[in-house]
Amino acid sequence: MISIQSKWRYLFMFLGIQLVVMALLSREGYQKRVSYFIRIFRKPDTTGLSGRNQTTVGIPGGDVYANLSTLFKTHVNEDHMPLCPKTSPLIGGPIHVKFPSGLTLAEVQRKNPLVMRGGRYRPPDCEARHRTAIIIPHRNREHHLKFLLYYLHPFLQRQQLNYRIYIIHQAGTYTFNRAKLMNVGFREAMREEDWDCLFFHDVDLIPEDDRNTYVCDSTPKHVAIAMDKFGYKLPYNMYFGGVSALTPLHYLKMNGFPNNYWGWGGEDDDIGLRVSLGGMYISRPSVKVGRYKMIKHKLDKGNDVNPKRFNMLAKTRQTWKSDGMNTAEYELISREYMPLYTNITVNIGTEAGLHSPPPPHPPEKAEEKHPEKKAPAEVPVNVPAKITEGDTNKKPTQNTSNHV
Ligand code: UDP
Ligand code: MN
Repeated sequence: MISIQSKWRYLFMFLGIQLVVMALLSREGYQKRVSYFIRIFRKPDTTGLSGRNQTTVGIPGGDVYANLSTLFKTHVNEDHMPLCPKTSPLIGGPIHVKFPSGLTLAEVQRKNPLVMRGGRYRPPDCEARHRTAIIIPHRNREHHLKFLLYYLHPFLQRQQLNYRIYIIHQAGTYTFNRAKLMNVGFREAMREEDWDCLFFHDVDLIPEDDRNTYVCDSTPKHVAIAMDKFGYKLPYNMYFGGVSALTPLHYLKMNGFPNNYWGWGGEDDDIGLRVSLGGMYISRPSVKVGRYKMIKHKLDKGNDVNPKRFNMLAKTRQTWKSDGMNTAEYELISREYMPLYTNITVNIGTEAGLHSPPPPHPPEKAEEKHPEKKAPAEVPVNVPAKITEGDTNKKPTQNTSNHV
């Protein structure tokens, strides 16, 4: 028979052992283990999943508008808005991009009820961590713009950004100048708000994965790394075209973009070179995520291939400080707050200047009807351009002279 005293002894011993076991278990992540076992009992088929962080479930049907309507119903007191999470819970992965005929701007507007006049948006339920301006150079591409707006608005909303879309519209019929329009966009956007990040975005490029977040890196970011027209690969290492993201500080450090590339080609390589000349590196998203579909098109009227592009590129090292943001001259014609974007119409003049008549002999007809994107032949490439983050071609560019 066990005496009362020894009963107490056993009880204390038992409790002591329990305490030791609990201490050991908690040291080794007791909680994780317990929840792990609970999950095993609940769903025996999840044992194969390795990711502990949120696993990407994907966007249902790849529909860029999926789940966004739940946002329309949220009402949070604006004064007590929590900061948005670091990773938006709405981000899901690949987006299915198609171009249905019959889409109208009215339909895009109907699908984006939270977008305010001027193409402005703030998440309704949390305070955004990032403020991004999208700058789109434009002329005669209304058809492309409609599709871009259809995809870009919900894409940016999925990322819980505070954003505005600016269309920089070149007035008149003189030769198009993409880079100069970007300078206009930079100045006009920064005049309006203190943006953290500017995305310089062709009108015909549709992002295909919402994990490609429209926020800036610590170095200038080339974003359109994998386009369908280049087989979802970079055409060459120094390529900086399509979509790129810079902070105001990056932009000023490289003296913005060149003003004197009239017509198609060269300006994007000049911009890539300026990044290096400004003492910065290029970062890129991973090729899995930086995917874009380009709406197919022919070379535009008024945007003939620029035959001077290679000669100009060879001189960027001498010209970048005296041509750029510090010398961008233009005349603002109008600023209109449209339902889905802010439209800035601008006179950027001609090669002869802002008010002088255009040069007597317009540039020769393009020698190439359908230019291919090729590495520039005569770019001085001895400037270090290191690619950071997720790029498959990690090597700095050494030689781009085997094309054209
Ligand atoms: N662009 C435009 N109208 C023009 C020419 C060009 O709006 O007449 C703009 C538009 O944003 C376009 C970008 O400039 O996406 C780059 O031009 P393009 O698409 O011809 O270049 P590529 O297809 O060779 O990259
Ligand atoms: Mn294009």
